Amino acid sequence: MLTLAPLAGMAQIAKIAINGAGTEGAPGGIWLIALASLACLFLGLALIAAGELAAHLADNRLTHGLRRALVERLSRVPLGWFSSRASGEVKQAMQDDIGTLHELTAHYYTTLGRAGGAILFSVVYMLVVDWRMAIASLLPFPFYYLIFGAAKKAISEERMTQFVTGQARINNAVIEFVNGIPVVKAFGVSGKAHGAYREAVDAFTKAFLSFTQPLVAPLANANAIIAPVTVLGVVLAFGTLFVSLGWIAPVDVLPFALIAPGISGPLMLLGFISHGVANGTAAAQRVQALLETERLEQPAPGTLQVPAGTEVRFENVGYAYDGQNAVLSSIDLTLAPGTVTAVVGASGAGKSTLARLLLRFFDPTEGRILLGGADLRLIETSQLYRSIGFVLQDVRLVNASVYDNIALGRPCASRQQVEAAAQAASIHERILALPRGYDSVVGEDAKLSGGEEQRICIARAVLLDPPVLVLDEATSAADAENEAAIQKALSRMARGRTLLVVAHRLDTIMHADRIVVMEDGAVREQGTHAQLLSAGGAYARLWQSGGYADAVQEAVAP
Ligand code: ADP
Repeated sequence: MLTLAPLAGMAQIAKIAINGAGTEGAPGGIWLIALASLACLFLGLALIAAGELAAHLADNRLTHGLRRALVERLSRVPLGWFSSRASGEVKQAMQDDIGTLHELTAHYYTTLGRAGGAILFSVVYMLVVDWRMAIASLLPFPFYYLIFGAAKKAISEERMTQFVTGQARINNAVIEFVNGIPVVKAFGVSGKAHGAYREAVDAFTKAFLSFTQPLVAPLANANAIIAPVTVLGVVLAFGTLFVSLGWIAPVDVLPFALIAPGISGPLMLLGFISHGVANGTAAAQRVQALLETERLEQPAPGTLQVPAGTEVRFENVGYAYDGQNAVLSSIDLTLAPGTVTAVVGASGAGKSTLARLLLRFFDPTEGRILLGGADLRLIETSQLYRSIGFVLQDVRLVNASVYDNIALGRPCASRQQVEAAAQAASIHERILALPRGYDSVVGEDAKLSGGEEQRICIARAVLLDPPVLVLDEATSAADAENEAAIQKALSRMARGRTLLVVAHRLDTIMHADRIVVMEDGAVREQGTHAQLLSAGGAYARLWQSGGYADAVQEAVAP
């Protein structure tokens, strides 16, 4: 409002100059108005700067708080929640959505204040100067809303939906297209795959056109009506009329010519920022949803239990991912300390789910799992992961040196301990052959194969030295040398530990102390290799059907 005061000042100066030229005290009055106008201008600018600063500081604090709250929350969700879907959601909320909220916090209110203030000042000032001229000057604006409203109605609900689904389709097609490039190239069907993408693009273009076409003409008209030059034309036309009617003096038209055209800018700005509110609200809702994700139940203080020993016992355990269709049911299983238990079964039998339950990726929907007599749910999380280590199929190395990757769970381990762990995992020699040895950075100068990465994960688990280890063997066929190295590392690991192996290979199964055969989420039979073979049940059939690994492979790739 203050930055507009100079315009009113100018009109006033013009009035004094024309009406009062030559009269006593006129120059002094002009100077006073000029000085007051300048003061208002600078004070206004200072306030704008202060407002922007305050808004940005607030935004900074909010963003910081939200990011921290999200990280804090994510550290409490069940590990099983993290999937590729979840990482997309997390990225969207932590990067994109918080960025969108910046628009809202840092810019929305200051813009609303400035634009709203400018319009309010202009309207009130004009009404005070001359209400008839004020009404005449404001005439174009209601027309803008009439035309704009009619145009908005012209976009049917259906067209809007087409537009949005078109956008989603294009996003999916892009992902499919990029993911599929290697396969597509290798099999020489580029035309076809490009076709799906091109189709989505064409459909989107069509939807976009039908969405925007009815809008183009009315929008152009609406914008033309409130363009500053149109408003000035209206002011001058009515001014001329009113002067000729003798209602006002010519100089009285000046304030309106100066002020009225300036309303268009802030008015359009208000329209733009209302989009920002819609986007910001959607973003805030997604952030809120992430802040309200399920939390892994923490034991109440006082109910904490400390595992006594390393015996693992599943008691009548059942689990359903969706809460209804049980993937596991009535599992009773005891893993004796210092033994290796191999879980076998066709793909989809529930082997990985069983392993993840022991790692407390999620809690069983029925029954309980005990470690050393303590319910997993009542063991403090840090204690739990000190007791149970895991090496899973999807190897996760962080973007840091090989050394740091091995020492991830025990950052204060000595160099010797880290190297000993690497030796136990049969990866020491390979690391030494890297350009910067242990200091090579994963993904930069440490380019490792899948099997080598898994051995680094094994070294990480060895270093942590957990009394219980859960291992989901890689299904993908590693090369023979790698496979032998992994097997060697594992048998070293097995000594003196309680080991649960989701097995995909014969060697592991044969030497296991116990083999658990799973079928449709239940334990079908268990015993040693020899016992199960002589029993002539499911395991014997699996074994005789030409090798377990092949059977699993067949099930995986029907
Ligand atoms: P296995 O390891 O024996 O191949 P899983 O434990 O991976 O079997 O899967 C058992 C069943 O649970 C399968 O029917 C699978 O589709 C389902 N399942 C696995 N993971 C999920 C998940 N994250 N959400 C929903 N269902 C799942």
